[in-house]
Amino acid sequence: MSITTANPGASGIGSYPNGLQPTPRNLTSAALALARIYELGWLPLGGYCGSDVLWHVHCLVCDDWSGPRFYSHLRRNRPAFRHPGCIAKSEHPAALAKLALRARTTCSCQITHPTTEGDVAATPAAIAEAQIQQDTDRMLAQIDRFLGACPATGARADAVTAHLLTVQNIRKKA
Ligand SMILES: [Zn+2]
Ligand SMILES: [Zn+2]
Repeated sequence: MSITTANPGASGIGSYPNGLQPTPRNLTSAALALARIYELGWLPLGGYCGSDVLWHVHCLVCDDWSGPRFYSHLRRNRPAFRHPGCIAKSEHPAALAKLALRARTTCSCQITHPTTEGDVAATPAAIAEAQIQQDTDRMLAQIDRFLGACPATGARADAVTAHLLTVQNIRKKA
């Protein structure tokens, strides 16, 4: 795995939330978590498993270490000490800037990922419907589409945030 090919949830890695039901809440939390750890130079080695369960991640700053970390710690970029043997802390900003250059604002993947609020809003319903119809293949395909590797993971997270705000405002008015 190299810094040039790495993307959040790189191919072959299950994007299905690990040990979590694919509820709208868990799906949106997972999408936000994937974008956040990528921004901080981590690549998930398995589906998002919640805030306080150890998540296997790969360090993209040195591209030479994998191990378990709590998302609750990663999210806050704490501890600043990444892991034994990582490159010098003074070199981290440059490595992260290089990673940020790989990020895209639009998805041009073969199977497009949701990067608009409307698409984000529609996906949990599509997943729930596939679940009700016990169509596992379709459900997994939808989850993969929602959480799979995408260079526009930040745009997806922005769309998720916008969607969550809209939902919150609707609830407030109700
Ligand atoms: Zn490292
Ligand atoms: Zn994509």
